[in-house]
Amino acid sequence: MAPLRTIVVAAVFCVAACSGDKTPQLTAKDAAPPAPADAGASAPPAQTSVLFRNVRIFNGVDPTLQAATDVLVRGNRIATIGKSDVNFAEPGMTIIDGGGRTLMPGLIDMHWHTLAVRPSIAVALQASTGYLNLMAGAEASDTLQRGFTTVRDVGGASFGLKRAIDEGWQAGPRIYPSGAIISVTGGHGDFRSPEELPRTLGSADSRMETMGDTAIADTPDEVRTRVREQLMRGASQIKFTAGGGVSSPHSPLDVVTFTPEEVRAAVQGANNWGTYVTAHAYTPAAIKQAVEAGVQCIEHGNLMDEETAQLLANRGVWLSIQPLPEELLRAFPPDSEEYAKGREVLTGTDRAYQLAKKYHLKTAFGTDVLFSAALARRQGELLASLTKWYTPAEALIMATSTNAQLLGLSGKRNPYPGRLGVVEAGAFADLLLVEGDPLSDIRIITRPQENFRVIVKNGRIYKNTIK
Ligand SMILES: [Zn+2]
Repeated sequence: MAPLRTIVVAAVFCVAACSGDKTPQLTAKDAAPPAPADAGASAPPAQTSVLFRNVRIFNGVDPTLQAATDVLVRGNRIATIGKSDVNFAEPGMTIIDGGGRTLMPGLIDMHWHTLAVRPSIAVALQASTGYLNLMAGAEASDTLQRGFTTVRDVGGASFGLKRAIDEGWQAGPRIYPSGAIISVTGGHGDFRSPEELPRTLGSADSRMETMGDTAIADTPDEVRTRVREQLMRGASQIKFTAGGGVSSPHSPLDVVTFTPEEVRAAVQGANNWGTYVTAHAYTPAAIKQAVEAGVQCIEHGNLMDEETAQLLANRGVWLSIQPLPEELLRAFPPDSEEYAKGREVLTGTDRAYQLAKKYHLKTAFGTDVLFSAALARRQGELLASLTKWYTPAEALIMATSTNAQLLGLSGKRNPYPGRLGVVEAGAFADLLLVEGDPLSDIRIITRPQENFRVIVKNGRIYKNTIK
């Protein structure tokens, strides 16, 4: 990728006393031009450096704010953390007076469907690909304005949107794409109507398959093909549905989809490419089969029991669970099967979080907002609702550095190799300047429009209301 920054003129940095003994001091070498951008994460044009003065850091790892200090961003990375005494702004430098506000890592949503957030289900099923991608672009821009600088897309053809964002001409979060959700005939993700059956050799793929949102596979060989297709498109991990789902038209919650041989084929396909498989699964049976076949992350897990939680703990498998709100049920008529399934899942959520805590599961945060622009606007509120089970600091650590650890499972397929979810020298500069202290009042993050005063992603300022 072409480095798109201008070469900066060396600036005069005077070293001042550091406020904390761990924070490095600025030195002359900090004025050197930044290293080229990482492959796949092409930098936006010429935002060469940003200096945040007088900010209290929540670093994404420690549960307390650090003493006020300065943070220098060069290119797309955090260059240094420590008191600086810049007498004048070098060319291309933006100096932001933090005024003692909180500087924290950008938020990460580990269960997001970039193309299915904003359209209603009817629009998603009928509108053209072009229309849906434009809608997804508008939503991606808003997602970033809510302070979510990274999302893991767990199903959907997000590759075009990701490319536009990485190239810098479409605003949006970093996307870790899974590509199509891999499912079985009749499984969660198979949106065909029974009238479209049977599928015969040579028959056309369904609309959702053609669009690359879902892929149906019914043998280990078909699974291998579908997995490899997603990897060829640029998937950073593979997503498949191990059991039934709430909104899917044909799959009861209790069913186990795929056979152990088929799951092993998916895991092998992903592992051969140095990455991992994450499985949609609610029930103990679906979770157990997936974990025993080598799946490294479970999406949802709302109906798991003690034994399943213990299995996840023993195998070190991640739980990517969402604090689903009651309002989700409103999408379905109260007498429908989907409503009943949704109720069952919501009823299990509290217990699942309790088990996650009891067994110290590696737990990730996500929202799984689908087909609702209104709910998407409450993305931060969903994160804040974790305080039903966690302290504000625990919730914010989960949505930053912990989520970033799970992103790291993509190994060599990681589209953004580098540290995310932390405020540390050398990490990607994905930063929020926040009004107040979200560690003591997490409600602050539910009003991003007024409280996120500055939003930086990949070193580029996307919002700045400090004048
Ligand atoms: Zn989902």
